[in-house]
Amino acid sequence: MIKWRCTLCGECCKRYVPLVLPEDVQRIQDTLQRPLSTFVTFYRPTDLDEPLDDSDERLFQTKDGKVAMGLSRVELEGEEREGCVFLKNNLCSIHEFSPLLCRQYPFQPQDADDLDGPLRLVENVCFGKHAEDEVVDEDPYRRSYRLFQQKYDEHVQQIAQWNANPQSRDRSIEDFLSFVGLQWS
Ligand code: SF4
Ligand code: SF4
Repeated sequence: MIKWRCTLCGECCKRYVPLVLPEDVQRIQDTLQRPLSTFVTFYRPTDLDEPLDDSDERLFQTKDGKVAMGLSRVELEGEEREGCVFLKNNLCSIHEFSPLLCRQYPFQPQDADDLDGPLRLVENVCFGKHAEDEVVDEDPYRRSYRLFQQKYDEHVQQIAQWNANPQSRDRSIEDFLSFVGLQWS
């Protein structure tokens, strides 16, 4: 049993860059009718607060080096700091169609091999101030985690296939997007 409640402090969306899947990007693009370039950024491993290891499976090769696809960050209104491009007044403005990664935060399975098993809070959870006055209904989070894991596995397989092709070293981000079914706009 996990006791936890989100206090909507917004810290997680200010500190973390969510790396997104092609289907997240497509869903957001279709729903908001907004060009991909207005909400997606391609991050080099050292651009992130917690730098990615060069061998991280989320990095894809381009002619300009390896990058990972994440949501963009912007200067937050009224605050001298950055946060997710979709964070408005400490709330997620795309909650109903947010990235799969965001949906199960801040939980993960206690046992990574047992996606139906009990959950636990992720490490370094809630840099802000969550409360412990509610018992969490784990089922929706478990379902989200399962879906995320399935789509994530498919995507890292795509990336592995792309990276294994020596020609990818001469290709652009736009070429990669087209490889995973997206279009630069
Ligand atoms: S998409 Fe929403 S939940 Fe995810 S980081 Fe951005 S504001 Fe937060
Ligand atoms: S850091 Fe925790 S309490 Fe704050 S908004 Fe994120 S999930 Fe909610």
